[in-house]
Order: sequence, then C-alpha cells, then structure tokens
Amino acid sequence: MLFRELAGLARRIASTSSRREKVAIVAELIRRLDPEEAYKALLILTGRIFPPSDPRELNVSWATLWKVVSELTRRGEPKGVDVGELVESMLRSRNKRQTTLFEEPLTIDEVYSQLEAIAGAVGPGSKGKREAILKALFSRVEPEEAWLLANAIVGETRLGLSEGLLIDAISYAYGHRREDVERAAMVLGDPYEIVRRGGRLEFKPVVFRPIRPMLAQTAESVRAAIAELGRCALEYKLDGVRVQVHMGGGRIRLFSRRLSDITTSVPDVVECVRNGIGAGEIILEGEIIAERNGKPLPFQMLIRRFRRAHFDPKLVEEIPLKLYLFDLLLLNGENYLEKPYIERRAKLEEVVREPVIVIPFEVVSDPEEGERFMKEALDKGHEGIMAKRLDSPYVPGIRGRYWLKVKEVHTLDLAIVAAERGYGRRHRWYSDYYLAARDPETGEFLIVGKTFKGLTDEEFEWMTKRLEDLTVERRGKFIMVRPEIVVEVAFNEIQKSPKYRSGYALRFARILRIRDYKTPDEVDSLDRVRELYERQGRKL
Ligand code: AMP
Repeated sequence: MLFRELAGLARRIASTSSRREKVAIVAELIRRLDPEEAYKALLILTGRIFPPSDPRELNVSWATLWKVVSELTRRGEPKGVDVGELVESMLRSRNKRQTTLFEEPLTIDEVYSQLEAIAGAVGPGSKGKREAILKALFSRVEPEEAWLLANAIVGETRLGLSEGLLIDAISYAYGHRREDVERAAMVLGDPYEIVRRGGRLEFKPVVFRPIRPMLAQTAESVRAAIAELGRCALEYKLDGVRVQVHMGGGRIRLFSRRLSDITTSVPDVVECVRNGIGAGEIILEGEIIAERNGKPLPFQMLIRRFRRAHFDPKLVEEIPLKLYLFDLLLLNGENYLEKPYIERRAKLEEVVREPVIVIPFEVVSDPEEGERFMKEALDKGHEGIMAKRLDSPYVPGIRGRYWLKVKEVHTLDLAIVAAERGYGRRHRWYSDYYLAARDPETGEFLIVGKTFKGLTDEEFEWMTKRLEDLTVERRGKFIMVRPEIVVEVAFNEIQKSPKYRSGYALRFARILRIRDYKTPDEVDSLDRVRELYERQGRKL
C-alpha cells in the first residue's frame, strides 16, 4: 500500500469521533494488507514504530525533526501544537520540487524500512546519519503524508487508537471473540503481534516474547487479605525490579515489567540464571533486588544499575544484585499459565537451584500467623507481603484480586480542611474528612485524601462540634473549615491523582488519633508526601 493511502486513512480516523467507524477503518486495513504490512501500518498509525518488547528506538526528538524540516523548507519559527500540521504546512510552503516526476510514491514498507534505518544508526556520527535519512525521507513525502509521518516519528499520532480499540478491530477483522484476542495480546505482549501472525491467536507463552505481567490489587492489612482469600500463600513483597526470565536453546533474555529487554544491564543475574536453572526452555518471573550481606539495599541504589545506556562493570561490585523468583509460566513446551498457583510454585522449586532463590513463602489461614509473617518480612527490610490464592491461574496483564499486596503502613500528620455529613448511622455527624498537607512554598493546605475511618462515636461527636465552630463556608452536607484540627493518618499507599490540586491521593487513609497538641504549622508538608511517594513509586 502506498504511504499516501495510509495517511488518507489516518485523516479519516482522526476526523471521526465514532469509535465504531474507527474500528471499521482499522479492521478493513488489516483485512486488505498482508500481515507484515498491516503490522507496520498499525505501528505507524499508533505512533509506536516499534512494539514494546522491541528494544529499538528512533531517537528523533521534535527538535531534530524541526531542524531537518526547516532546512528543507527554509521556514522560520514554528507556531501551533500539532507537529504533523506544522510539518505539513511547512512542506506546502516549500518551492515546487523538481524531482517529483522521477520518483515513485513511497509505500508503507519503504517508509518503515527508513524508520528502521534511523533506529539502526547508533554509535559515533549516528546523529548525522539519522538526520540525513530523515531529510531524504521528508524530501520525498507529499505534505499530506508528512502529517502522519511527523506525528508518528514523535509518537503523537493522536488518532484515538487505544489498545482496546485495536483489539476490537482485530477481533472484527478476523472474526475472533474479543476476549480471545485480548488474552492472546496479553500472552504475546501486544496486539500488533497477532496481526503480524495473520490473525493466529496464541495462548501459550512464547520464549523470548515477554508476557504482560499479572498484577496485584491492594489489601488494607494481612488480616483483610486472609479474610478475602481464605487459606492462601503469603510471600515477601520485595521492593525491586520485576523481571521475566526467558531461557531457551542456551540463550537467556530478561525483560522488565514494561517488557523492555534489560539483559545487558544485569550480566551478573544472567550468569546466576545460567548456573541456577535446570531446564531447556523456560519462562520464569521474579524480582531483582540489590542486596548486601543478606540485607536489601535501597531502591535508589538498585535503579542505578538500570539508568545507564551502557553497562558499567564496576557497578556489579558496588551494587550486587540478587534474583528471587516467584512464578513459572512455561516449562519445556508446557503451558503453566492455567495451572494453579500452588502447582506452579512447587514446580518452580524443583527446577531452580542455588544461586537462584525462590521467594520465601508460607501457606496460612490464621490471621495471627499472617501478621507474624508480615512482621518477619518488614524486619528483613522488605516492603510487605503478597497474598496469593492457592488455586489461582496466572492471568497476564490483569490487575485482579487473586494477588493482594499488603504494604507497610505509613503515617502523616494532616489538617482537616473540609468535612461532609455521613450516611445512615453517621448522618448526625460530620464524619467524612478531607485531609490536607501544607504546601511549604505558599503555606496553603492542599487536600491529599479523604477518610471516614478510625474514630469512635464519642470522637465523631466531639469532632462535629469542633468543626461547626471552625466552619467558614457551608454547601449542603459539605463544610469548609479553618485548618486547625490535626490528625495522625495511617495509609498504605500514595497515588498520583488528578482529582486533588496537590497531585496526590492517599489509599486506605484512616485516622489513628487526633493530635490535640499539634498546631497546623506542624502538619506534614507536601514535600514529605512527595518523598514518600517517590520512595514507593519507581517501576522500570
Ligand atoms: P506494586 O508495584 O505496588 O503494584 O506491586 C506489585 C509488584 O510487586 C510486582 O509487579 C512485583 O514487581 C513486585 N513483587 C515483589 N514481590 C513480589 C511477589 N512475591 N509476588 C509478586 N510480585 C512481587
């Protein structure tokens, strides 16, 4: 297919807000093209160029693109926001080219191979090489095509082609059930691969194709996790980097949680896998942490091993890594995804030996035992525990309740800045509280969470009276108050939140006690909230 035609389709996709129409256009495209070409077309339309598991990168910034196009067109400062529109209008203003008559129009394949050549330019002089290829490419495209090409290169096609929509279009194009396509996309790592395989669905993990990792939900406490799952397995929750280990035919590749290939950053872990795993073909999952004398080192140290573009051998000594495995997904051609957790775990223990370690675990049904295990995990310097249902399959890419994470509880001193009347039994009181941290720059109190948990009836009574005295504004059931009451708040996690102006929201906040003797200027600052957030958030 000509690239010009693809650009035309992209315009059609962009100009309709109907999801059904977008799906129909993409499905039609998939049906028309041969698998390899359809695969490339979808990657271009979604502005990815390469799928997540492909380590190649274009390395072309907007500035580089701008430089190349302005050299071609001799135009001044850009205006506007859409890169594609800009480049298109710049090319339109260019003098008529003389070469048009002699050049064949570009095909999708040709454009894609030029993009691959750009990604392939590495090492000394690579910047110049990339720019030369880009220049040649843009001197051949028509303005209509330039819009799609420029946006795809900077990864901003903005056609509304979400992964869900691609999955719909693929189901439609091949007549598959949606849930089957979704599952195959998780197992293969991305939906593009299904198209490349001509619509053939694969439900068994494929060695060297990273699978979307199974995700956990949060439980408030070990007790709550055991109450929900019943008799279950508890494992240490290590605060490291999740890794998928693929081994086959003597080769080993390691992939991060985002499916990028991290093999070259961790030669020591690769060596350890080579010595510690007795299987021909295998896919395993685990967590890498930095550890010295049996003690985990801070996450900030671990992450230094992954920051550099080129591996520095000195770091192996300085930041020793250890691999703890917790799951088995494929073994010598046998699919383990559907097998119950407890069976996967037993097999895992069978196939690995020192220096590879399986994460410590315990099967419990008694909450007291669970709490003891949690304490043990925290005492050893880990982040908390994972509770796993014994009969649960491995569900790639889904954040379900088969796995529940329980993290260490943190506390902050926060001010109550607003409140709401409760429901049912609590309608007599202001029982829902908005909790705020201090912005150290402006002195403002910014909300970071809300809770109705933790107070006794007497305390609700007291609080209601006190809040009424402090009210500055009333809107129905809701009041704003002067920030004078300070409470100690426990929570399990901090999330980024667009809902609050502070940008953060506490998960499972509950009041531990009312801080009678604390004044509002002793309330924790937003910096402290940010610091706690940064300490927990950091995934590769
Ligand atoms: P979170 O990132 O807070 O959602 O927690 C989930 C992450 O915890 C996983 O992606 C793993 O990287 C990590 N993790 C640590 N220990 C375990 C474990 N025993 N089982 C599963 N995941 C674990």
